[in-house]
Amino acid sequence: MKMKMKKCKSCGEYTLKGKCPYCGGEVGVVYPAKFSPEDKYGKYRRMLKRQIMKEGLDERDFHKRNKGC
Ligand SMILES: [Zn+2]
Repeated sequence: MKMKMKKCKSCGEYTLKGKCPYCGGEVGVVYPAKFSPEDKYGKYRRMLKRQIMKEGLDERDFHKRNKGC
């Protein structure tokens, strides 16, 4: 993902262009971490899953452990 999401300062619409396509207003960059925190967690989940696979653990076993007992 190389393109930066931008938000219009006057109407609040999101765009990838350097200028608002809706009202022609000025746009400001929106930082990805701010509007898609789920992506961040998805990355962690994938990392965790890879780690589990590397260690040769059963995923169900991991969930059981994660619940705590
Ligand atoms: Zn606008």
